[in-house]
Amino acid sequence: SPLGWRVVVRQPEATVIRDVRALQHVIVVAAGVSGIVLLLLVWFGANRVSRPLARLTDVAHRIERGEEDVVFDARFGSEELRRLASALQGMFATLRHQKDALAESNRDLEAKVATRTAELQRLNTELDQLARTDALTGVPNRLKSNERLHEEFARFRRGHEPYVVLMLDIDFFKKINDTHGHATGDVVLQQVARTLRNNLRDIDFVSRTGGEEFMVILPLTRLAHGVRVAEKLRHAVASTAIDPVGTVTVSIGVQEVAPHDASPEQAMHDADQMLYLAKHAGRNQVKPQLPSPTA
Ligand code: GH3
Ligand code: MG
Ligand code: MG
Repeated sequence: SPLGWRVVVRQPEATVIRDVRALQHVIVVAAGVSGIVLLLLVWFGANRVSRPLARLTDVAHRIERGEEDVVFDARFGSEELRRLASALQGMFATLRHQKDALAESNRDLEAKVATRTAELQRLNTELDQLARTDALTGVPNRLKSNERLHEEFARFRRGHEPYVVLMLDIDFFKKINDTHGHATGDVVLQQVARTLRNNLRDIDFVSRTGGEEFMVILPLTRLAHGVRVAEKLRHAVASTAIDPVGTVTVSIGVQEVAPHDASPEQAMHDADQMLYLAKHAGRNQVKPQLPSPTA
């Protein structure tokens, strides 16, 4: 003031700071309310963003585990999340469709492979049969003869089941070819094969091992009976007329398998030697058994 006076008034402290306290109170309340509002906003934001995201993640994990009946649901999320969910749902539908198509084409392929495999197996069996059959006469060929000799020899070694091998050769066959032609020679071969087959048991084995040479295996047979069968065959061939050749004859070597045989082929080789002797002795005859090496 212009007078240079100062007025000092004593007042109780409570009266002085009452307004300040009131202001403080207002500030605390306002801060509390703002905090709660902020928390509500955060909670609301979380609900709109992180919960739908968590749900989408959960669905993705279910797909990972192989579940197919799933829905990407973001109904209560933001617009962006709803669009993301819809895109994921579309992608999942496409993938499932492609997977179904792939499974279907796999099934088709498997069915085709099964059909082809069965066909291949059938052809293989046929091929196997062809590889072991003589095309001209229809009886087994040399390959099958060897296999059969091995089987019989193994059975003999295991169970001492005896068997007899006959080697047969048509006599003067070259002359038949020269006189009547190769085609007629073929007919003779076919007829001889038929005659042999018709005069043997079902368990007996007859094959064409070479040009005009046949082999017979008589399972469960001893030498004496084998010789009788050989005579029967010789007689059957000699008494079957083949047009226009007339009758032909065969020479036959006979050998029973023996414990000292070194190999499955041994009996066949021995029978072949006996056949050679039958030829030299004048043909159209049966020669039985090489003498045993120990005899
Ligand atoms: P041998 O009494 O000593 O047995 O005399 P062979 O004339 O029967 O015997 P050789 O070995 O001299 O002649 C066999 C003939 O068989 C010679 C060959 O041309 C003929 N031949 C071989 N395979 C076939 C065939 O598949 N068809 C025909 N038609 N002839 C064949
Ligand atoms: Mg001959
Ligand atoms: Mg011959």
